[in-house]
Amino acid sequence: MSLSEVQRRRTFAVISHPDAGKTTLTEKLLLFSGAIHIAGTVKGRKSNRYATSDWMEIEKQRGISVASSVMQFEYRDAVINLLDTPGHQDFSEDTYRVLTAVDAAVMVIDGANGVEEQTLKLLEVCRSRKTPIVTFINKLDREVREPLDLIDEIEQHLGVSAIPFTWPIGMGKDFQGVYDIQADQVRVFRPGDSTLGGDVQTLQGLGDDEGIARFGEPWRKAKEEVDLITGATPAFDRAAFLEGNQSPVLFGSAINNFGVKEILDALIDLAPPPSGRMTAQREVSPEEPKFTGMVFKVQANMDLAHRDRVAFIRVCSGHFERGMALRVTRSGKTFRANNVVTFLSQRRETVEDAYPGDIIGIPNHGTLSLGDTLSEGEPLQFLGLPFFAPEIFQTVEAKDPMRAKQLGEALKQLGDEGAIQVFKPMVGGMTVLGAVGALQFEVVSHRLSNEYKVDVRMAPARFRLSRWITAEDPSRLKKFVDFYTDRLALDASDAPTFLAGHVAEINAAKESWPDITFNELREHS
Ligand code: GDP
Repeated sequence: MSLSEVQRRRTFAVISHPDAGKTTLTEKLLLFSGAIHIAGTVKGRKSNRYATSDWMEIEKQRGISVASSVMQFEYRDAVINLLDTPGHQDFSEDTYRVLTAVDAAVMVIDGANGVEEQTLKLLEVCRSRKTPIVTFINKLDREVREPLDLIDEIEQHLGVSAIPFTWPIGMGKDFQGVYDIQADQVRVFRPGDSTLGGDVQTLQGLGDDEGIARFGEPWRKAKEEVDLITGATPAFDRAAFLEGNQSPVLFGSAINNFGVKEILDALIDLAPPPSGRMTAQREVSPEEPKFTGMVFKVQANMDLAHRDRVAFIRVCSGHFERGMALRVTRSGKTFRANNVVTFLSQRRETVEDAYPGDIIGIPNHGTLSLGDTLSEGEPLQFLGLPFFAPEIFQTVEAKDPMRAKQLGEALKQLGDEGAIQVFKPMVGGMTVLGAVGALQFEVVSHRLSNEYKVDVRMAPARFRLSRWITAEDPSRLKKFVDFYTDRLALDASDAPTFLAGHVAEINAAKESWPDITFNELREHS
């Protein structure tokens, strides 16, 4: 396998608080590759504005998102894989898992709103994984907050050192362009001009007098701020960026396609190609000749007649070729990957081969679950796919008791897919569903009835918190389980989970059982 196929890959996701401009930016990024020609194509998959009961929209979202959730395109010498993340925060669990499949992220911040709640959460996940982040401050064509304040806020709230690569000259009606600090170059903004990057007017090495003559007061202010900020921030250090401790900051306006090319260039010049990934057994290097991959997302298909699901697999090493025999570590089963899709140009196309960093989709009927590792035979299990302790719980039962068995099977599938978490109490009681966002219940209820023909009744459960419990000493774990049987449930992977109505109950249990660990996050194992 040629080394350069790995080296030229860049795999990333765009993250943001809803409305900051993720969709718009994604669309403009795709324009560069010619992957889409008509601006507005991506727009159809808006996900964060539908009413919670709008089933049509949910269906549409699910259908379209299979096609558009991974986009591959070429830019310069690079092959870029852009992974979409769900816009609605109720599906943030999905987003966290997508972030395990990328090597970098672009964080979009609305210049008028600064750092918002959703951005904070997503960034925490990136930081815990040391994912390098490129920051894009958007909407400079509007009145936004003072750029110096925005930089401050990023540093304080997100805990990364923000290193401006460009600086805005004016804003809103007065937005005149950005000053590229390293290149000592101004890229001039012309409102309404959304041509493709190349013919943006650039001015090299402007003296102050020339700058003021051309841009007036905003030039003077920008230069003053640049002096201030370059004096106060450390120099860009690529190693610190790769560790997730520094983030290059770019200013622009996605809707005007201004500053977008710079993001792609930063990704290619600064962001890392695929690197080694840990398994429970050993680290796997992308340059290894044998194929390995990890299922980071399972998406139900729209085709109800076939009821298949597409497993999204990140290639971690080797070279994938259609028809190769792959072994699923969890089940020990081997299958031949004949039917594989890739996501070029937003159309599902049959893929012939793929390299580390690429995403392939394998339609299946339950062979592949979230977190699965595929290999050419070596029993490896990739680590790090997170499950978060749910925050909302509902009991679920089939309206028709004769359908209880079907409900069990359907919930197993939906649980494997990560659509919802399923807990079976150890003694008696109804199955409990756990979610991070309320909308997950609605989607699951709808899918149970539509896809599995099981109508269900859901009701709020008395639990409000859950913790996965582990202990170094298995005999202590067993004692704990025996003591609290009526409080314990098994999740989809049979991991024991402590369910509580109040945080005080967890604290009390913790105090009496110091050798038991209560985990808010479970990594797939
Ligand atoms: P998302 O929810 O993060 O995907 O955000 P969208 O891309 O849908 O953008 C939210 C709103 O902001 C839309 O109305 C966009 O047209 C608008 N928007 C996006 N980028 C810009 C920009 O650069 N300037 C202005 N003024 N509006 C923008």
